[in-house]
Amino acid sequence: MSRLWSSTMLLLLCTLAATTVQPDCGTEQVLVDTDDVGDRRVACSGVHRALKSLASCEYTISETLHIRFMAGGDKEKFIVQENGSYTNVPTSGYYLRKPSCVYVETRRMPVADRTPAFGHLPMSDELLISTVAHEVTHHVHHHLCASRGRVAPRAASEYLAYVVQLDTMAEPKRSEVLDCWPSAVLPSRQAVNHFVWASNPPRFGVMAYRFHQADPGFFCDILAGRYHASDRGIPAQ
Ligand SMILES: [Zn+2]
Repeated sequence: MSRLWSSTMLLLLCTLAATTVQPDCGTEQVLVDTDDVGDRRVACSGVHRALKSLASCEYTISETLHIRFMAGGDKEKFIVQENGSYTNVPTSGYYLRKPSCVYVETRRMPVADRTPAFGHLPMSDELLISTVAHEVTHHVHHHLCASRGRVAPRAASEYLAYVVQLDTMAEPKRSEVLDCWPSAVLPSRQAVNHFVWASNPPRFGVMAYRFHQADPGFFCDILAGRYHASDRGIPAQ
């Protein structure tokens, strides 16, 4: 290789390195699309919480994920499901599989205009961070299932996301969430199905967290693809 050619290659490589998008949150696969320092801090805190929980089963974020923030009028534009229809379910965050992107409400919106968490609680930084952790978990589960040639089952994915969200939530906020449904519990693993989740998603989240305390191994079993949801509709207690 000539000296001129070597020098040209070196210059090209340096140029490419200089223009490569820098990863965010200290994680190669995460890109946070915001200039707002507070939103960025929320995003990275949520990512780190999800990574900590997933690491307990030796999983991590393996596919590129964008985290974007939405505000006011942006929300309706963003709340488009993959089949092209709109949802009328208010949400402070959600995950789109194509492209892999988490959308969450910006903390710059007045609290009164923001979607309450778990259907009841005024949004706060703690709850917004937990929302990011929830949605990042959907991303990881989706790609794990896709790598096995499967579509992520909704109820199982929600189970994982709520467990991460509540398991990593700081007190006293977690107790406030649990107190919304003080006696709600899942009777068995088989109750992690679409019927129970859809009947009241936030309550399902609280039930998932309580079940996780009694059966912590279920979390890793779902991530490993060892649980196949039943849709027999076993009623929740
Ligand atoms: Zn979810």
